[in-house]
Amino acid sequence: IKDDSADITPVRWIRINPVRTRDKMKEVLAELEKKFPTRVSSWSEIIPGTIYHDEYVPNLFGVHPGDKITSHELYRTGKIIIQDRASCFPAHILNPNQSDVIIDACAAPGNKTTHVAAHIFQDQEPEEVRIHAFEKDPERAKTLRTMIKAAGCTKGIDVHVGDFTKIAKPSAFPNVTGFIMDPSCSGSGIFGRKVMDEHNKSKEETNVVASEQEEEHEDIKDEDLKNRLAKLSSFQFEIVRYALSFPSAKKLVYSTCSVHAEENERIVIDLLLDAKVKESGWRVRKRAGVLPAWPRRGLLNEFEEVFHDKEVAQDLAEGCIRVLPKEDGGIGFFAVCFERD
Ligand code: SAM
Repeated sequence: IKDDSADITPVRWIRINPVRTRDKMKEVLAELEKKFPTRVSSWSEIIPGTIYHDEYVPNLFGVHPGDKITSHELYRTGKIIIQDRASCFPAHILNPNQSDVIIDACAAPGNKTTHVAAHIFQDQEPEEVRIHAFEKDPERAKTLRTMIKAAGCTKGIDVHVGDFTKIAKPSAFPNVTGFIMDPSCSGSGIFGRKVMDEHNKSKEETNVVASEQEEEHEDIKDEDLKNRLAKLSSFQFEIVRYALSFPSAKKLVYSTCSVHAEENERIVIDLLLDAKVKESGWRVRKRAGVLPAWPRRGLLNEFEEVFHDKEVAQDLAEGCIRVLPKEDGGIGFFAVCFERD
């Protein structure tokens, strides 16, 4: 039996938080250079003392988890945030700007919410609410509030506690232009708490690793996987479909930390085949607008089974992002962007 921890380079991903940094970006970079004097050109070369500047997401860096970062001034002041690389993809793909109003429908603990804020509030935080973060679990909503505060956001994000599909009426959000949709999933792409913990002996660091893993995920030990996936995928389909009914929404990034097609490509297919979704003009954004340089895309065979036009199936698969656990430097992940004119 192969030891999971033996064959991977463990990486801790950190992003600079422009909400706390603004025009001091150069100083933050200099501080990081002091702490990590050697730059490496691939995350797989990371060893203690080195830093890798990610080629996909701006202001994202990989470091060795053995290099304590949580006691560092940059971390304590919210200038850097620990967040898995793949988990940074959704906000980067959504690419919200200063005229957007965004709903994060399943927000806690808030990694993607604060990353959306990094895009919209990078010059200054507006006086009015521009991000609505929904979370149905009151305990997790508390963590969400803590994370938002730590990230330096004050007035621009409104936290709503409750089931998004019940408390968010589309007519009450006529100005919402985009969505982050990262619902509960099987969490089958999550790994490595054990691996990471080996590098983080203190309790504090271990807690951070837990939040780094971030995703609330389902325990499927006692249940038949097939049934579990059927339940989860029906919930995932319904919650996305509901979001796609918001009147001014033009873009929605759907993501999971699951490796199962049932929660990923097949959700995309079911949505594309749904009469209401079709009618309202939604399509899958092509590869050119979804991290085009990222090599691992959606599973072509899933689309080919349903869409017999080869080009259509190819475009859909290429529009999706897949991230393999460990092999791609972090958790397993899936992301896709729906858009309309
Ligand atoms: N996006 C988060 C992040 O990046 O930090 C992780 C989200 S986690 C995968 C899913 C979250 O959605 C959980 O906190 C769960 O309680 C919440 N959730 C599940 N169903 C929901 C619903 N119907 N309305 C609002 N929140 C929901």
